Amino acid sequence: MSTVALKDVTKVFPDGTVAVDNISLDVNDGEFMVLLGPSGCGKSTVLRMVAGLEQPSRGAILLDNELANDLPPRDRRIAMVFQDFALYPHMTVGDNIAFPLRLSGMEQEQRTERVADVANALGIGDVLGRKPSQLSGGQRQRVAMGRAIIRRPGLFLMDEPLSNLDSGLRAELRAEISALVRELGVSTIYVTHDQAEALTMADRVAIMRKGVLQDVGTPTQVYGRPATLYVAAFLGSPRMNLLESSVYVHLDRYVALHLGDQALYLPWDDIRSRAVAHYHGERIVVGMRAEALTPVAPDTPGAVLQGRIRYLEHHGHESLAFVDIGATAIVVDEMGTPVADGESDRGRRSGRLGKVMQRFAGRAGVL
Ligand code: ATP
Repeated sequence: MSTVALKDVTKVFPDGTVAVDNISLDVNDGEFMVLLGPSGCGKSTVLRMVAGLEQPSRGAILLDNELANDLPPRDRRIAMVFQDFALYPHMTVGDNIAFPLRLSGMEQEQRTERVADVANALGIGDVLGRKPSQLSGGQRQRVAMGRAIIRRPGLFLMDEPLSNLDSGLRAELRAEISALVRELGVSTIYVTHDQAEALTMADRVAIMRKGVLQDVGTPTQVYGRPATLYVAAFLGSPRMNLLESSVYVHLDRYVALHLGDQALYLPWDDIRSRAVAHYHGERIVVGMRAEALTPVAPDTPGAVLQGRIRYLEHHGHESLAFVDIGATAIVVDEMGTPVADGESDRGRRSGRLGKVMQRFAGRAGVL
């Protein structure tokens, strides 16, 4: 089994909570799909319905194009990995990994061989005789992964499998898990509220809010062209600048976006002009990522906005400027796109913001 399709799936719990609201979603063969959203948005409920642990109130769940609403969990060829690892404390690592094979009645000799293969692939071949309490968090999660992959399932379901680990180990394991899953070619649905995890691991990300699916796409699509305002504000750190603006089309030559007492002019042949031109005379919300903006000296030719730097934030790999433009504030990344002052090398542009600050005491233009 390798594909999953949810068709208009709704889950209402007996107390009236609508945990999942009319969701349709396809997971392709071998695809790594991440369900992303804040706590309580219904991600785990979707996963539990695919696993057969919850029944949809309405709609259909298809596994390999077959209706599976009433299929018992054991007949779904699914392996689940949870955040609490759910290992048996009294069993050794080897027995924990072998457990699904024992249930299926596989001979001891064959089991031992398979366990050794999987454990070696996961780098835990040397701890097979230990109990879970004698392992580190990362090792425990590898054991849980081992137990999930040993049966060669058609589909992995993972519910925040890394959330109990510290951040360094999380980053390491997320790379390991995505490499392993891709090597195995097993379709995966991975639940997380951590956007870094989602954007780095996913083939496609499905973003949920209050039971409703907001957007589905590759990490580049959902980050670069978010389908809703919610997704635009939710994805990315710093948060996308979202500015209310009025749109005016000037004789098919350029488009002006009026932001407070300033205007941002887009040439007509700019693809973004066409996207907003049909809102002529209306108010819209314009989204600008900090990394798409570059601070420059005030009155620099070509600067699109003028503002006052309120403060700087240094993050090691980047510096952010919080800039007041009229009544609103925007965030600007020091390492934004190249500007028209002759400097194009990213390294040489480092430190520009500090210099702009020093020379112009907070006043700055934004390109
Ligand atoms: P988290 O990241 O915190 O696990 P989630 O996005 O996975 O959250 P779910 O666990 O799917 O969210 O829960 C979705 C909503 O359904 C929540 O409001 C939750 O309180 C509610 N819910 C979950 N299980 C039940 C249940 N058995 N009975 C009633 N409401 C439930």
